[in-house]
Amino acid sequence: MKTAVFSSRRYDEQFFNAANRSAGHELFFIENHLGPSTASLARGFPAVCAFVNDSLDAETIQGLAAGGTRLIAMRCAGFNNVDLKVAHAHGIKVVRVPAYSPHAVAEHVIALLMTLNRKTHKAYNRVRDGNFALDGLLGFDVHGLTVGVVGTGAIGGIVARIFHGFGCKLLAFDVRKNPACEALGVRYVPMDQLLAESDIITLHCPLTKETNHLLNRESFARMKDGVTVINTGRGALIDTESAIEALKSGKIGQLGLDVYEEEGDLFFEDRSQSIIQDDVFMRLTTFPNVLVTGHQAFFTDTALRNIAETTLQNVTDFEAGKPLLNEAKAAGN
Ligand code: NAD
Repeated sequence: MKTAVFSSRRYDEQFFNAANRSAGHELFFIENHLGPSTASLARGFPAVCAFVNDSLDAETIQGLAAGGTRLIAMRCAGFNNVDLKVAHAHGIKVVRVPAYSPHAVAEHVIALLMTLNRKTHKAYNRVRDGNFALDGLLGFDVHGLTVGVVGTGAIGGIVARIFHGFGCKLLAFDVRKNPACEALGVRYVPMDQLLAESDIITLHCPLTKETNHLLNRESFARMKDGVTVINTGRGALIDTESAIEALKSGKIGQLGLDVYEEEGDLFFEDRSQSIIQDDVFMRLTTFPNVLVTGHQAFFTDTALRNIAETTLQNVTDFEAGKPLLNEAKAAGN
């Protein structure tokens, strides 16, 4: 099926072309983001493939529908950037890749945590510079700490298992319990209790109306002094300005972010030669105890292979009129 792949980068082409050898679709790679002003590029494409920072709002979807698009194939798990109701109203199906490698994201949580904790990024440079002093590199044992996991689905469930391996006490908050987590000894508690008792808080719930700015001024105030917060979910789960206040007051001891609420204008591009205009983001990067990665938690070869294969299988199923196993539905958000 003729498919326009938006926001595509070299690595997308590489993995999609490899997976397409058996799938046999007609793929057209477009570097631009998908949004109201670029929807017309998809004219004549029955399928479009989009990513996390594409904007599939009402106007974009109307544009896609006018151009004959009948399938939106998200090559990611989250679909907070798709107006499902408008897609449904236009008879456009939306599919996604619910789990391509939850391990990739869960393992990145540990990369963020342990870099912030043991300061390996500083040690790397120091040793190369012949500086073997340890001042400023003091870390803490993760063993024995209390970890609060918000959202214990595919990724949060693995995160819980990894922290269990570290010897941590585990608390969780979710709208539904994961039996595998309960079997591990994870204790489901109200959000306020999780905030108050956790030394490390890690976010793995989807971004919805209910979870937008889940961590805000009030929630930071409830946390332990020196708390570590890790967000690999979606940027807007955290109110960044409140996080900055909490960093300035010392409430947050370490902040690890793979996502940022205004990342759409920044991430996935080389902006090293431009003047970044986002002052909130730039303030974040001035703290020595903040580590930001550019939405790379998913970025492993296993994940990219699975993303390409599942996305193309979703397109194949749609073309063949088969049931869409990975359909994104508003209720499942
Ligand atoms: P999942 O659907 O398997 O799990 C999400 C969990 O969140 C579910 O258990 C659900 O019940 C729970 N949840 C829903 N609403 C909640 C609420 N209001 N409060 C608390 N919990 C709630 O999803 P997943 O595969 O584990 O992914 C989680 C999120 O991670 C995705 O929605 C996506 O936004 C993000 N993600 C980020 C990356 C990255 O590269 N940084 C990659 C993949 C996914």
